[in-house]
Amino acid sequence: MAGTAPTWLRPVPGGLYCAPGDFYVDPTRAVERAVITHGHADHARAGHGKVLATAETLAIMAARYEEEDTPGRQALAYGDAVTVGDVTVRLIPAGHVLGSAQAVLEHNGERIIVSGDYKRRHDPTCARFEVEPCDLFITEATFGLPVFKHPDDGEELGKLLASQATFPERAHLVGAYTLGKAQRIIVRLRELGYDRPIYIHGVLEGINRIYTRFGVDLGELRLVMETEKKEMAGEIVVAPPSTLNERWSRRLPDPVTVFASGWMRVRARARQRAVELPLVISDHADWDELNTTLDDVGAPHVWVTHGAEEALVHAATERGFEAKALALVGYEDDAE
Ligand SMILES: [Zn+2]
Ligand SMILES: [Zn+2]
Repeated sequence: MAGTAPTWLRPVPGGLYCAPGDFYVDPTRAVERAVITHGHADHARAGHGKVLATAETLAIMAARYEEEDTPGRQALAYGDAVTVGDVTVRLIPAGHVLGSAQAVLEHNGERIIVSGDYKRRHDPTCARFEVEPCDLFITEATFGLPVFKHPDDGEELGKLLASQATFPERAHLVGAYTLGKAQRIIVRLRELGYDRPIYIHGVLEGINRIYTRFGVDLGELRLVMETEKKEMAGEIVVAPPSTLNERWSRRLPDPVTVFASGWMRVRARARQRAVELPLVISDHADWDELNTTLDDVGAPHVWVTHGAEEALVHAATERGFEAKALALVGYEDDAE
C-alpha cells in the first residue's frame, strides 16, 4: 500500500547522501557539499566545501569554527527553494533551536523530508515546526521511548522560581546546553515575568550574541566573571552543564545545582551528576510528539535515526507506516 520508498537518498558512512544532487545532509565528516539542518556540533561539522543552511545556522557555524564568511556558504530562508543538481531543496522550521530546519528535498515528483532534530512545543527563541506532507520522512528518536513525556516547561521553571524564593542566600546554577537550551530558558523566564538580571558563564556570550542579532531579546545578562560572589546570592545563573561538577561553581554562593534536560526524567542521570533540582526541559520531541508528528506528516515511509530507534519503528509499523531504523553513527543524543 505504501509503494516503494524513494531510492535517491541513502544512508552511507558519513551521513545521508543524495546522489542526484551530489550532497549530504548533516554529514558526520567533511564533504564537498552539505545541507545542514541546524547548528548543534554533531549535525554541523567543520570543513565542508559548500554549505546550504539558514542564515542563523551559518552564523552559529561561523562562530563555532571561527571561520570567516566564505563564498561556499549559501543562506536559504525558510520556504525559499534552490536547485542543487537535479534536486529542489527547501528549508522549513523544525522548532528545535534558532535557525533549525527540516530539509525538504524534491526529485522526480517525490518528496523527502530530513527533519534533523525537532520539537513541537512553544519556544519563543525559534520558529515553530511546520508540518509538510512527503513520501519519506526521516525522524530523530532521541526520546523515542514511552517513558519520555516532557512536562510543560512553565511548570518546570516554576520549580526553579519556587526554589529561588526558598533559598534567598543561595545562587541557582542552571546547567543548560550552550546552543538553544540556555537561551530558551532565559527567554521563557522573561515570559514568566522574571525581569532580574540573569548571570551567565562567558562561554554563552558568542551564541547569545547571535540570538540577539536575529531578534531574540534575552533581557539583562551579566557575566559571572565580572560579578562579586556575594552579589549572586539568590540569583539565577545559567552555564553549560559541565560546570555543575566543576571548580567553576565555587565562584557562586552555595549554589543549588539545577540541570535542564530531557534526560532528567531518568532519576539515575540526575543522581549521577549530583543534580539537586532536575528540570525536565527538552528541545527534542517526546514520545507522544514523535508519534503525533508521524501521524501529522503522514508519510507512508519513515526512517528513524539517532536515539531509541526500535521502539518508534515498532509503534509506527503497528499504525501502518513502512518504517525502518537507520543506524547512522556519529550523532550524539547528549547535546540536550
Ligand atoms: Zn540538535
Ligand atoms: Zn541530533
